[in-house]
Amino acid sequence: LSSWANVPAGPPDPILGISEAFKADKSPRKINLGVGAYRDEHGKPYVLQTVKKAEEAIRDQIPDKEYLPITGLPEFTARAALLAYGADSDPLTRGAISVTQSISGTGALRIGGAFLARHYPHAKAIYLPTPTWGNHIPLFRDSGLEVRSYRYFDKENVSLDFEGLKSDLLSAPEGSVVLLHACAHNPTGIDPTPEQWAIISDVVKEKKLFPFFDMAYQGFASGDIARDAFAVRHFVAQGHQVALAQSFAKNMGLYGERTGAFSLTVADPEEKARVDSQLKIIIRPMYSNPPAHGARIASTILGDTALYSQWESEVKGMAERIITMREKIYSLLTHDLKTPGEWGHIKSQIGMFSFTGLKPDQTKAMAEKAHIYMTADGRISMAGLNAGNVQYFAESVDAVVR
Ligand code: PMP
Repeated sequence: LSSWANVPAGPPDPILGISEAFKADKSPRKINLGVGAYRDEHGKPYVLQTVKKAEEAIRDQIPDKEYLPITGLPEFTARAALLAYGADSDPLTRGAISVTQSISGTGALRIGGAFLARHYPHAKAIYLPTPTWGNHIPLFRDSGLEVRSYRYFDKENVSLDFEGLKSDLLSAPEGSVVLLHACAHNPTGIDPTPEQWAIISDVVKEKKLFPFFDMAYQGFASGDIARDAFAVRHFVAQGHQVALAQSFAKNMGLYGERTGAFSLTVADPEEKARVDSQLKIIIRPMYSNPPAHGARIASTILGDTALYSQWESEVKGMAERIITMREKIYSLLTHDLKTPGEWGHIKSQIGMFSFTGLKPDQTKAMAEKAHIYMTADGRISMAGLNAGNVQYFAESVDAVVR
């Protein structure tokens, strides 16, 4: 008898399942709007010019494949922290940010979850928005935190449920951890306004909650690095201690290179040294040390003035292509096709994803009748749309909602 005879089959991953159905579909019109990876105007994966240039520079400079330190490439982590917190950030200038490289954003969240589970002195419960990125729930549970939720999305109005959010955070036990999507909330595409962020910061302060930011889309949301970092920088300026998970998957297109960083703002350099030592103790038995190539690419881009400004315009280009698609869908549905319903949210949402408001039976019909694949909750990855397929997409939406 096999040792694994009693292992039950688990459910398939909801997003990877979509990609499989898409692959099996033989229609030439098929569109995959499930996976959250940027596609160019021809629907193809996109490697940034600055990434190619950085790779050339690295090939010429780095002769070996030696291990990185446990917390990764020091130039990379310093530049990643600078990108997120900004040059005039108080903890940054005081040497009071403890930062480590991570296996992209997922790994950063996981290191943070493990660190909080081990060292956070208050309630080890983390509040996640409903809905949230599906992986947050098992990730924090497996890190050893108790997962709870706060209201975020108003289904009725396809908007932020700000009253629900405030009331749930106000009734959370003091000292709880709260996970905040720094920008481009996944899956809704709906972010708080700067004014709402200021109120959230006040509520977090009043209830002594601990803010943990997940920033997987800096620059990718608005096209502007500083603007997308507003929430994180505002909280830090307001005197909060924060935890931060960063990913370079989207804004540098480094998906498979697994390039990210986890950081904590701390009291002073002495405390930083103690926290750094504990981050190493958490990371060492997990994977020893992180992969080098992606961190070298990101570090090269962030550390070179000319490459950095070219990268800024490439990020802006990706964000703007997505914003253009939003405007196009909105105008096709509202003006050209006169599709029943209110579609303003498609235009006002931000980032890679849009919650269309399509119901599960309608998303099923989109796949079966139109060969267009998306998650059952009606989320689409805007990046899968382009000038060649957006008209067909809008007509297909029109057909399923009538
Ligand atoms: N957080 C959110 C909200 C995300 O959408 C993603 C990417 N889908 C991640 C974290 C992490 O992605 P990665 O591990 O590829 O950086």
